[in-house]
Amino acid sequence: MSEIEDLLREDLRGQSPYGAPQLDVPVQLNTNENAYAIPEDVAAVVAEHIGRELRGLNRYPDRDAVALRTDLAAYLSRKGGGPDLTADHVWAANGSNEILQQLLQAFGGPGRTVLGFMPSYSMHPLLARGTSTGFVDAGRESDYTLTPGHVSWAIEAHDPDLVFLVSPNNPTGTALDAAVVEAAYETTRGIVVVDEAYAEFARDGAATALGLLAGRKRLVVTRTMSKAFAFAGARVGYLAADPELVEKLLLVRLPYHLSSITQAAARGALACAPRLQAEVDQLKHQRDRIVKNLRAKGLPVADSDANFVLVGGLRDAAAVWRAILDRGVLIRDVGLPGRLRITAGTEEETTALLDAFDTVLELRPELFDTQERQP
Ligand SMILES: *Cc1c(COP(=O)(O)O)cnc(C)c1O
Repeated sequence: MSEIEDLLREDLRGQSPYGAPQLDVPVQLNTNENAYAIPEDVAAVVAEHIGRELRGLNRYPDRDAVALRTDLAAYLSRKGGGPDLTADHVWAANGSNEILQQLLQAFGGPGRTVLGFMPSYSMHPLLARGTSTGFVDAGRESDYTLTPGHVSWAIEAHDPDLVFLVSPNNPTGTALDAAVVEAAYETTRGIVVVDEAYAEFARDGAATALGLLAGRKRLVVTRTMSKAFAFAGARVGYLAADPELVEKLLLVRLPYHLSSITQAAARGALACAPRLQAEVDQLKHQRDRIVKNLRAKGLPVADSDANFVLVGGLRDAAAVWRAILDRGVLIRDVGLPGRLRITAGTEEETTALLDAFDTVLELRPELFDTQERQP
């Protein structure tokens, strides 16, 4: 062991950092980013908002980000169909990853546990590790769905301090029924976090937990601007919860954690929400096109409420991933046997993806287990 490794916290020794393999290929459909660049008119609005902050950069930012939280609350209230939210129900940070980290810092920590249901967002166990919170994986059904009964059973078995639910789930893409969130909340004494990073991509009528917040003081809904707002590079995530819970996060946040530039950029993008939602609608259309097309080829695909789909029926997922890559399209091997995850792209990117699948299905049928060929 090296001297530095020796000095490292024991629970971090021998671990590797998060990293989605990034390869330089023409069509990148592997990290669930929004396929569209920020439109020129939106970029102009964001630039104007940032420009107004530049001369004041000698000062620290508003450490409570009140103006941004007010805008986020208005956005959620417009979209959520739930109770009217105000700035004190909302908290913002550098990506929902920082939001989740702050939740773990405040409500997890040494000797405490967070319960998750894998396969799900791979950052959740890493954030738990970084905050010395124990991560317990209670798994899912064999088709990767989650039932209220399983969630309640797991909570009773493990008595966690926090429960992480993801809806729509990554990497499966399907939104959770409100009944699952309700069952979790009723069974646990702890904090229930619903990670809704992809909420804006949900099929019409799909559930959001925002409508469940009223009267549930231990419920937290996290969101991000990384996906629907095409703002992954800006690093803006947020949550909605009871004001008392929000206040506790001030105990663990770094002073001035959210820069003036980030706050201004986010407010600019929020002012353009309808414009950006139009591109979300385009991506939903391409997502549905992938689902329909791959199903027509005989490959099972889970219903998706996100900007990606999980395709199954692959006899050798790693070989299919490689063969698709050889045709210039990068998708994601999330380590699930027989399955690959594909982010919806622009119309052209999606066409390239579906063409690549066609070619590989034709040239290497032995890599697939299509449904027509099953007895
Ligand atoms: C992409 C994603 C996020 C986004 O994280 P940011 O830090 O906001 O970029 C959060 N949760 C899930 C499940 C995701 O897939």
